[in-house]
Amino acid sequence: MYEHPSALGVAIALKPAAPVTLIRPQAAARAARFFVEKFPGRSLYAVKANPSPELLRTLWDSGITHYDVASIAEVRLVARTLPEAKLCFMHPVKAEEAIFEAYHTHGVRTFSLDTIDELEKIMRATGDATDLELCVRIRVSSEYSELSLASKFGAEIGETKELLMATRQAADALGICFHVGSQAMTPHAYTQAIERVRAAIVEAAVTVDIIDVGGGFPSIYPGMEPPALELYFDAIHRGFESLPVSYSSELWCEPGRALSAEYSSLIVRVERRRGDELYINDGAYGALFDAAHIGWRFPVALLREQESEAEMKGFSFYGPTCDDMDHMVGPFMLPDDVQAGDYIEIGMLGAYGCAMRTGFNGFSSETVVELDDEPMASLYREEVETPRRANVVKLGQ
Ligand SMILES: *Cc1c(COP(=O)(O)O)cnc(C)c1O
Repeated sequence: MYEHPSALGVAIALKPAAPVTLIRPQAAARAARFFVEKFPGRSLYAVKANPSPELLRTLWDSGITHYDVASIAEVRLVARTLPEAKLCFMHPVKAEEAIFEAYHTHGVRTFSLDTIDELEKIMRATGDATDLELCVRIRVSSEYSELSLASKFGAEIGETKELLMATRQAADALGICFHVGSQAMTPHAYTQAIERVRAAIVEAAVTVDIIDVGGGFPSIYPGMEPPALELYFDAIHRGFESLPVSYSSELWCEPGRALSAEYSSLIVRVERRRGDELYINDGAYGALFDAAHIGWRFPVALLREQESEAEMKGFSFYGPTCDDMDHMVGPFMLPDDVQAGDYIEIGMLGAYGCAMRTGFNGFSSETVVELDDEPMASLYREEVETPRRANVVKLGQ
């Protein structure tokens, strides 16, 4: 047991030679409570954003009972970690063996699909089960999101009628789901997608029991400050209320990023400075995949006992591997006197960050430290600022 009041305390106490993952369970718990209390329906956690068992338990303890899983490994992981959780297998293209095991061994009853072939596969694998909740994924625009999910999955206009009618025949409960793309920057993304749902329902004239608006709820990053989540919830609620669905129909959502982004950050060390380029000890093959491959900007802070008074300047980062692609353009804003040996906290890596780490080229990170201070940014902070408390912290591994 170590005591570290903050990321700075961790850097000073450990002087870590490898990256250190910081976790903030109370930030994930606060996000979960927000969705549980304010989303006008049920919130499923999309496990792929961050499958850490500690995070899964934190979300469960905060009221998240349903989990969106996409692979048989995720099914097994959540079944093992949270035996009472309800699992929804929402990948539209599944291995038949995965459906078989999910249904027969783990009690999964909810599956998504976007083709007749997948419907037939699900019926074969489950032995023509009569207790299935089947969600037809329809294609919607990703134009309001930072990361598109529009080209891979989803039935097109022209395909949905036949698919909805066939699925209605097979399903105990029929759902329609979509994904507006990740980090949707306006509630209008959902309003527009719900209009597509309306057109599909009207055309197929089927009774629909579940509307699942998917993920896409934003978090907060430099240069990406979204509107309040309540505005997204209001827009979704209004859209749902106006749909021609059965009176007892349910509204679901599947947030990944919004529930996990604030959970983790990272302490890295600067190993070399070359002009405005910093060579740090984590990168594209570690927790910074999105920073490297899609130019995502994360908040950064210099961790120095004596605060720097130098002017702020934009830096790019090189990761530790021997590969030119291990480069993150940023710009990441840091004081101009940053130098080799300095530690930097990189924030908001709980979603699609710490989950993406590989051991490529021998660089990885095992140290995890739990903090209970505020994350570097938050969409859920109370209006009244509470002072940062000095905390007892557990040191993992
Ligand atoms: C990735 C994914 C999510 C989570 O998306 P976020 O943008 O992280 O909220 C939800 N549902 C499905 C089907 C997904 O593929």
